[in-house]
Amino acid sequence: MQHYHYIFTGSGLSALMTVYEMLLSEKFDDKSILLIDENTKKVNDRTWCFWDENNLFDEIVSKKWNQAIFANEKFNRVLELTPYQYKKINGLDFYELVFKKISENKNIHFLNLPFYETGTVKKGAISLADVEIIVNLLTELKPHQIYVAGDLADPHGTHKVCLDAALAAIDILKNEAWMKDCRIWMYRGAWKEWEIDHIEMAVPISPEELRNKRNAILRHQSQMESAPFMGNDERLFWQRSEDRNRATAELYSQLGLASYEAIEAFVQYIPV
Ligand SMILES: Cc1cc2nc3c(=O)[nH]c(=O)nc-3n(C[C@H](O)[C@H](O)[C@H](O)COP(=O)(O)OP(=O)(O)OC[C@H]3O[C@@H](n4cnc5c(N)ncnc54)[C@H](O)[C@@H]3O)c2cc1C
Repeated sequence: MQHYHYIFTGSGLSALMTVYEMLLSEKFDDKSILLIDENTKKVNDRTWCFWDENNLFDEIVSKKWNQAIFANEKFNRVLELTPYQYKKINGLDFYELVFKKISENKNIHFLNLPFYETGTVKKGAISLADVEIIVNLLTELKPHQIYVAGDLADPHGTHKVCLDAALAAIDILKNEAWMKDCRIWMYRGAWKEWEIDHIEMAVPISPEELRNKRNAILRHQSQMESAPFMGNDERLFWQRSEDRNRATAELYSQLGLASYEAIEAFVQYIPV
């Protein structure tokens, strides 16, 4: 079971403010923090106004006032608020600020591959620059396990392009000493499971973990929409994924093996 040093139930203003200050202080860098919320915090559910005499949250302040007017029909007086200001921030800007700070954590890396970061929907071709970024990260981390999306259905799909870039990097590094202790696992995407006789690692998933997986999928905006090329299948991504994991578990059960709620299946990639 995973243990955490700090758990926040509800990632609202209080929790996110606290976590933000904890991260800024750098005193908790070796501590694990779990944030639990029923809400993905992806909409602007409120705005906050507050008094300030410093530069608190200036990068996300959407409006500020230096003066106030105290008035009725007969009386009108402008009040200078200096040294204070009254400031407004949008809830969503605050959530994004804190989540960005969290994602800057040292144990999380974003690749930002040039082929993907074109700024448009159309992606560029994979190049040596993409491969080099992965080579550098793997060389720095020397991981014991690498998980890659082995979704081979669409050769131009992002999954396949990323896989090509990762495998090209692995090919460059395959003779490094640390690679002897490193296993590369391929998992399947929403469309198709590995054939049962190809599966080399089957990880049981409990009902609770399956719910966690569903929520993780739903945190990704693009996965909340229906698939663009769904044919006759109208299921959303999380439904496809859950059905697939359940079907794999059912297959194992039918083969006389242990029965589980769901199973995630992996195939090992061995560079030659
Ligand atoms: C429209 C609006 C405007 C406001 N404007 C101001 C303002 O201008 N200035 C000001 O100082 N204050 C303002 N407030 C008040 C301020 O938002 C609250 O005081 C503050 O958000 C309280 O912080 P909190 O962390 O306790 O609660 P919240 O920020 O509400 O966070 C609680 C969190 O718990 C989560 N949660 C609830 N139940 C569960 C559950 N069962 N399981 C998992 N997660 C759960 C919620 O999704 C939420 O993310 C405003 C409030 C609202 C609604």
